[in-house]
Amino acid sequence: MLHFAVAGSPFSTPKPGGTVEGLKQARKLGISAMEIEWVQNVPNNVERMREIRSVAQYLDIFLTVHAPYFINLNSPDKLKLAASKKRILAALSMAEIAGARSVCVHAAFNLGLPPAKVYDNVRRAVEDILKKKARDFPHVNLALETMGKPSQFGTLDEVLRISKEFSIYPCVDFAHLHARAQGKLNSKEEWDELLDQYEDGLGKSALKEMHIHYSGIAFGPSGERKHLPLRESDAKWKDFLAVLKKRKVGGVLVCESPLMEEDVLLLKRTYD
Ligand SMILES: [Zn+2]
Repeated sequence: MLHFAVAGSPFSTPKPGGTVEGLKQARKLGISAMEIEWVQNVPNNVERMREIRSVAQYLDIFLTVHAPYFINLNSPDKLKLAASKKRILAALSMAEIAGARSVCVHAAFNLGLPPAKVYDNVRRAVEDILKKKARDFPHVNLALETMGKPSQFGTLDEVLRISKEFSIYPCVDFAHLHARAQGKLNSKEEWDELLDQYEDGLGKSALKEMHIHYSGIAFGPSGERKHLPLRESDAKWKDFLAVLKKRKVGGVLVCESPLMEEDVLLLKRTYD
């Protein structure tokens, strides 16, 4: 089964908002999943996490988390690297308590280093983080995200390779890949090939539990510029849904459109 998730509390959530109210509003709208946006910081209120968990369970809402943006697992600065790992670990641990299944992370900036060197640095940091998995986040996946700029770590090859090594799965942001590839990856044939590559990397059953990001996207020579509403972009979103359906892709598709629930529902209704 494929859930369609809103990226944060829906716009239409009654004031004062918050994740719990957002979950209720999502359910009211017929949305069955939410990505909680801890992109500025990770909360540390355990009681609040337990409340999110029980409300999401009661409403049968599938949860994922977006980790903070301030992360660079390729930083040469030891303090910055340690702070990055700490933020990821905090997001994973709180996600465990909140009942979220997967946490996506923008892993690193390349900083002009050769890709092999960056890969090594990210790999080492991921290995460190996962040492705490059994104790702190046994039910949560660490999803390294495919990124929209060539200056960032996160080609599909890179995130698949590292995921395979550690038995985790990545967050495949198809909009980022489209931007990074300067407009390619916007057709049924290309998506089919991409999913073949995903299966080759992580196994046949991996398609049944994917963490996907999707939206329209604007891009320039240096890749991603900003996310766009589906209908104001070049995204062939109906074709995309057809491929997901044909390949029986499961898990969650988080729609990162600026229109929030409007585009989530557009995708969900079209898919159904
Ligand atoms: Zn992201």
